Amino acid sequence: MPLLARMLAAPLVIDVRPGAIEGLGALLADHRIATEGRVAIALGPGQGDTIAADLRIGAPAVFRVSDGSHDSAATLGRELRAGAYEAVAGIGGGKTIDVTKFAAHMAGIPMVAVATSLAHDGIASPVSSLEHESGKGSYGVASPVAVVVDLDRVRSAPGQLACAGVGDVVANLSAVADWELSAADTGERIDGLAVAMARTAAQAVLLQPGRERSDQFLTVLAEALILSGMAMAVAGSSRPSSGGDHEIMHAIDQLYPGTASHGELAGLGALFCAYLREDDEQFAALSSCLGRHGLPRSPRDVGLTLPEFARAIGHAPATRPGRYTILERLALSDAEIAKRVEEYVRAIPD
Ligand SMILES: [Zn+2]
Repeated sequence: MPLLARMLAAPLVIDVRPGAIEGLGALLADHRIATEGRVAIALGPGQGDTIAADLRIGAPAVFRVSDGSHDSAATLGRELRAGAYEAVAGIGGGKTIDVTKFAAHMAGIPMVAVATSLAHDGIASPVSSLEHESGKGSYGVASPVAVVVDLDRVRSAPGQLACAGVGDVVANLSAVADWELSAADTGERIDGLAVAMARTAAQAVLLQPGRERSDQFLTVLAEALILSGMAMAVAGSSRPSSGGDHEIMHAIDQLYPGTASHGELAGLGALFCAYLREDDEQFAALSSCLGRHGLPRSPRDVGLTLPEFARAIGHAPATRPGRYTILERLALSDAEIAKRVEEYVRAIPD
């Protein structure tokens, strides 16, 4: 009988625990990712110089990542190529990991993601989101070969960065609903395995009662973000984790740069899409989860007026040509959008 199966490209190692960063040196050696010790580390702006000593990897070449731009990523990529390193570890938040993933891909070397915040699902994904002169772009890159999440460092991340990824991962429910809608309306093929991973990840966070910043909650959130990234790798696109919710996030980013983080806006976009879809159960579940974690639910929570938010909704489909979601299905006029936005804000429970 033929053995019919598909092979999945998955990280060699997933290490989520307090103090995980100290195991980085052993991880690189044990898994033969870097056998000669020619390792580079790329540090985000929030990381002190002393971190290199905590890593226990001899004397790595240290690079600083100052921002999340395509220019920074290309510069780092050239430096990694010039130094002929065996591997690079990106240590920091979402932007640092995105920059390092792109640079590693450019240099053709393996990348280890060491997350110090849980702001979005890029920690294990094959996508790098970078700023450029005309806004922000998503670039397909190789997935990290290992993912390390140090819960001690996540817990001490500033402000909402520790947990904004809650918004990004629960947005999978909206993304999957959009994918199913597209299958029904346009015949787009669904990947059931990618859906299973993306939806299970979202449900785990939605139903997780643990206190914010407790090890129990942060572990579930980190694992859900990793699964979400792998769902994208399985699907070969961001489809399982990005629907109308992310179109809204991209539109707000383009029209009103600097409004809020990726995860915060993805959660808000998902809640609005659930409202448009008239899925009362999903709307209530998302609203309660975002509210519980202090994440934005109303445009006013991110400092946008209702007309500003309505403008972003109108612009959203143009941010991702070819992706069919509830926004493309309804194709609302400006007047209808304004009315729906007002009704939406009234529908958010206190
Ligand atoms: Zn996202």
